[in-house]
Amino acid sequence: MSDETLIRNLIARTCDTIAAHADELGELDRAIGDGDHGLSMNRGFDAIAAVADEIAVLDLGAALQKAGMTLVMKVGGASGPLYGSGLMAMGKAVAEGSDPGVMLEAGVGAVKARGKSEAGAKTMLDVLVPVASAFAAGGGIVEIRAAAAEGLESTRNMLATKGRAAFLGERSIGHLDPGARSSVLLIEAVCDVLEGK
Ligand code: ADP
Ligand code: MG
Repeated sequence: MSDETLIRNLIARTCDTIAAHADELGELDRAIGDGDHGLSMNRGFDAIAAVADEIAVLDLGAALQKAGMTLVMKVGGASGPLYGSGLMAMGKAVAEGSDPGVMLEAGVGAVKARGKSEAGAKTMLDVLVPVASAFAAGGGIVEIRAAAAEGLESTRNMLATKGRAAFLGERSIGHLDPGARSSVLLIEAVCDVLEGK
C-alpha cells in the first residue's frame, strides 16, 4: 500500500467508526462525564476527513502531525488535545525516521504528558499503554486487539482520578471510560486497515 492509499484508508476508516459509534460514546460520557465525547470525536474526525485530500499527499509523518493539529484545533473537550498531541508526537517520530515501536511510545508519552496522567486513572491511557506494551513485547495485530479490549474492560471497576469523571469519585466505578472506548475504536480501525479488511 502506498503512503497515500494508507493515509486515505486510515482517515476513512477512523472517521466512519467514530461516526457509527458517536451515540455510544455520548452515552458512556453521559454516565461519568458531560456527554459530549461522541460529538467531540465526530467533530474532530469530520474535520480531518474534510482535509483528507491535503493530508493524503503528505509523507506519513507530516500527515499524522497535520491530523493531530486538526484535532487540537477543532475539538474543545479534553480528548482533542490529548489525541491531537499523541498523533503529533507520533508524526514527529515518523518524520525523524523512528521505527513503529518508538512512534507508539512517543504518542503514548505525549498523551501522558498532556494529561499529566498514567495508566490506572480510568482514561484512554488504560487502552493506549497496554497496546504500546503489547507491540513492544513483539505482539501482532491479534495481541494488540486483545490488549485494547482488555484495557477497556479494566476501566470498568476503576476509580477515576483524572478528567471529569474524577469529580464523581466512587460513583465513577462500574462504568467504562468513554475515552478508553474511543481508543479501542481507533485501534480497531487501524488494525482493520493494516489487515486490508
Ligand atoms: P471532556 O472531559 O472535556 O468532556 P471528552 O468527553 O471528549 O472531554 O473526553 C473525555 C475522555 O478524555 C475521558 O473519558 C478520558 O479517557 C480522557 N481524559 C480526560 N482527562 C484525561 C487526562 N488527564 N489524561 C488522560 N486522559 C484523559
Ligand atoms: Mg466529555
